[in-house]
Amino acid sequence: MKFGGTSVADAERLRRAAQRIVAKREAGNRVVAVLSARGRTTDFLIAEAQEISPNPDPREMDMLLSTGERQSCALCAMAINDLGHRAISLTGSQAGIVTDTSHTKARIVEVRADRIHDALDEDSIVLVAGFQGVSTTKDVTTLGRGGSDTTAVALAAAIGADICEIYTDVAGVFSADPRIVPGARKLPVVSFEEMLEMSASGAGVLQLRSVEYARNHGVRIHCRSSFEDGPGTVVVGEEETVEQPLITAVTHSTEEARVTLKGVPDTPGAAGRIATVLAEGNVNIDMIIQNEPVTEGDRADMSFTVPRSDLGDARAALAPLAAELGIEVHTDEAMGKVSIVGAGMRSHPGVAAKVFSTLGDEEINIEMISTSPIKISCVIAGDRVPGAVQALHAAFALSGSETIQAEKPFGRFT
Ligand code: ADP
Ligand code: ASP
Ligand code: MG
Repeated sequence: MKFGGTSVADAERLRRAAQRIVAKREAGNRVVAVLSARGRTTDFLIAEAQEISPNPDPREMDMLLSTGERQSCALCAMAINDLGHRAISLTGSQAGIVTDTSHTKARIVEVRADRIHDALDEDSIVLVAGFQGVSTTKDVTTLGRGGSDTTAVALAAAIGADICEIYTDVAGVFSADPRIVPGARKLPVVSFEEMLEMSASGAGVLQLRSVEYARNHGVRIHCRSSFEDGPGTVVVGEEETVEQPLITAVTHSTEEARVTLKGVPDTPGAAGRIATVLAEGNVNIDMIIQNEPVTEGDRADMSFTVPRSDLGDARAALAPLAAELGIEVHTDEAMGKVSIVGAGMRSHPGVAAKVFSTLGDEEINIEMISTSPIKISCVIAGDRVPGAVQALHAAFALSGSETIQAEKPFGRFT
């Protein structure tokens, strides 16, 4: 069971999470629960660091950020003890979550779950601080924003859990962020393939890495509400879906930045060198466009998007190469992205045309486009994102019963 930040934000909610955990235990299950930092604790810790230092050392950042989830776990253990059950809280490191050494966005390389097994064998409920681990060089690391989802999935895989329940502040995965489209539809099931595209394009309800990890390790995810009972969304293998909807969801992100490189030498190897310095700087590049020069021998322009939080790293990584090659670097911080995802679009022409005309009708300018077989993404101005999401959700009639849905039993997990 994993509880997100809103689900443990105040004393009453934290006690309610404790009660849910205890109820699972009393129903005869052995329970490991992963908790996130309370409310906006992680945001506050980041702001605190920035107040002290404009460019905080990543190792120290991880020491700081990892404290948020430890608080939640210790407090929840107290609440569970008061309910008459034994609970033990563990840091990511104590829980055996071993990561690589990339501070603030570390990847889990191994889970050594023996301490968890021992505690379960002693009949304890085990509470693990989400979003963190210990690196192969013994430093505390964090797993990137939203990383507690990945902690939960990795632990579920390591202990062979029956199910990984992600309890959050919405009732499951919806056809769009319900905060932007109040009429969005809850999806009873969603395939890994679609969920990966959704998470990658901004549906933060499940962190992308948690979905990748679940697919690679065969973990069953059930994403559901912390506040009400009833089934949420089960993420299933493609082979388990019966029908494929044309479009499953509209996703968005307002956290994009664009980098434009003017005057890139039009020679083989230039793009490779640019991508290499960015990769070495641990910057995730998303969409890339290169304009070939009209006249031979001229220089090219290249634009790409990065998460806004990576922009500082991108600038730093590019600076030496830009100086060497005489490239001008321009950045635009206020970009957004809207995407539609659906396994059914693979075999249906005309979807892109409908997306572009819908945005055109709203007078929204498309600045960059990228596609995969089951996704179309458009980069647009950040402030136009909510309107774009609503227009696309309406254009593809995603609220209504006319959407063809994959139906699969999931009652066993509810
Ligand atoms: P938690 O703190 O529980 O991890 P998050 O804030 O990380 O919660 O994720 C839940 C939020 O994800 C919701 O409150 C919702 O606003 C947002 N969200 C974005 N896209 C979707 C979507 N397609 N379906 C459901 N929620 C979404
Ligand atoms: N507390 C971390 C964050 O806010 C991790 C998480 O909530 O999953 O990103
Ligand atoms: Mg989250």
